[in-house]
Amino acid sequence: MYSISTLEEYFLGILPAMAISMAPKAAKENLTEYPAPNILAELRPTSQEELAAILALAKKEGLKLYPISSGFNWGLGSKLPVEGPAVLINLNQWKSIEVSEELEYAIIGAGVTQKDLHDYLERHQLALKFPLTGSSQSTSILGNILDRGASAFFHRRQRLLGLEILLPSGKWLQTGLWHFHKTSSSPPPIYYSAGLGPDLNGLFTQSNLGITTRAIIQLQPQSSGILFFADFQEEQLTPIIQKLRKLRQGNMLNEGILLTNKNDPRTTEGNPFDYNGQWTLIGSFSGSTSLLQFLQTELSLQLAQYCQKIEFVSSSSTTSCSHPYQEVLRDLYNGCPSDYSIQTMAKLQQTSVQSAHEVDTNKNFPGMAVALLAVPFHGPSCLELMELIYKISLDMKVRPFYNLASLDDTTFEGFFRVYFDRNDPEASKNAKKWSQRVLQEAAEKLAIFPYRLSTEQMALFCQNEEDAFWQTIKEIKNSLDPHSLIAPKRYNLV
Ligand SMILES: Cc1cc2nc3c(=O)[nH]c(=O)nc-3n(C[C@H](O)[C@H](O)[C@H](O)COP(=O)(O)OP(=O)(O)OC[C@H]3O[C@@H](n4cnc5c(N)ncnc54)[C@H](O)[C@@H]3O)c2cc1C
Repeated sequence: MYSISTLEEYFLGILPAMAISMAPKAAKENLTEYPAPNILAELRPTSQEELAAILALAKKEGLKLYPISSGFNWGLGSKLPVEGPAVLINLNQWKSIEVSEELEYAIIGAGVTQKDLHDYLERHQLALKFPLTGSSQSTSILGNILDRGASAFFHRRQRLLGLEILLPSGKWLQTGLWHFHKTSSSPPPIYYSAGLGPDLNGLFTQSNLGITTRAIIQLQPQSSGILFFADFQEEQLTPIIQKLRKLRQGNMLNEGILLTNKNDPRTTEGNPFDYNGQWTLIGSFSGSTSLLQFLQTELSLQLAQYCQKIEFVSSSSTTSCSHPYQEVLRDLYNGCPSDYSIQTMAKLQQTSVQSAHEVDTNKNFPGMAVALLAVPFHGPSCLELMELIYKISLDMKVRPFYNLASLDDTTFEGFFRVYFDRNDPEASKNAKKWSQRVLQEAAEKLAIFPYRLSTEQMALFCQNEEDAFWQTIKEIKNSLDPHSLIAPKRYNLV
């Protein structure tokens, strides 16, 4: 068994001193104010050799390694491991980007952020983009994909073509069709995500089976499109979702859809954050000029009876819009990320942030506890869930915020959250209890389950020894990682 000082010596044998932080205080800070497990060190390797040497050391010394790509998993524990003692492996320096313009894909290192990719494409004058999340421009693309995050327009998960992974055995694995490509002189002909044989891309997302260093992602050509913004009242929520379902089935709306209440820090006007029954529907469609004209007319007709007003904004316009969020979303549609969400969130507590790094460390930045649910794309189910959350919130005296963002044709991401004052321990405790209660009651009463969990919420849904699903995941883990070196208990019994 190691002592802390010998451990530091071992690390210094592998990495330069600047790539090692022993007992890192900042890594423990998180905007949900979860108590941090013991973090022995944060290591920032920059090469495959360093990473392999860390893994070999972990095997020898029984260290538990928790990989992160940028560590801004806000609301879900940020950089925290599920349990300690742990060593964080931060791959935020892995910034390689290669693009195949012909096949419209990018091979990105784990640390490539939304902004890095956007800047690269712009610098190389490539008319390509990748679906963006509403989180900060400094969040990694890979970390978000590995946690199966949600993007604002278009859907991200389906665009993962391959992963490069260091397995606990020390072997390097490439998924999809990537492993067939042996020469490094030409870009691999990658376009088909399922590959041949079992599809391993899914196995390495929301899992603890390896350390992912690179990914191949399918880019999209820049396109002309129109964004629409439609305000409506809560009574219309059910019929409007049913209508959207029909429109999607009729192939009229096959890009992302976002339904948000208007008191959301991003959509509010003049900062009233109390829920007033007002909602906004946001979406987009793309195509030729005549198709855009047709869809705009048709959507105006189809949605008119539900909405107070509908605004259309061309993706190529450069004029200012009626609300700043519309401009931010126009940029997101065009592949240009921003920090608007965290900047507006800061306003909840009359503070401000200059960069993503302050979100976890600045105690005046609002705290956030989340319940992230896979909600059926079905009006009555959405309403039932909202009513349940409203009841729980009333009972617990918290103010909930709701977003529904399409994850695919059948599912919304339910991004339910409460904000709290991080300097108030009672408020912090209550917010976390609220998120737990929402997850539990949604599952028990409505059979609506989470699609993503925080480090503390893992135990609620991933620890059922009787469930053949988790038993199978455990067996896979035992076979690939018999010493449980990588991220123990993350989406796994072990
Ligand atoms: C205001 C606000 C808005 C947000 N909007 C969105 C949104 O629109 N969509 C969304 O999805 N999220 C959103 N989030 C949540 C979060 O900020 C993002 O999901 C963010 O992208 C996750 O952080 P990251 O990219 O730094 O990933 P990381 O924290 O680096 O990774 C997430 C997890 O994936 C695993 N992992 C990461 N890298 C590796 C690796 N190399 N190998 C193996 N496992 C790894 C780890 O378990 C890690 O904990 C929002 C948060 C806030 C506060």
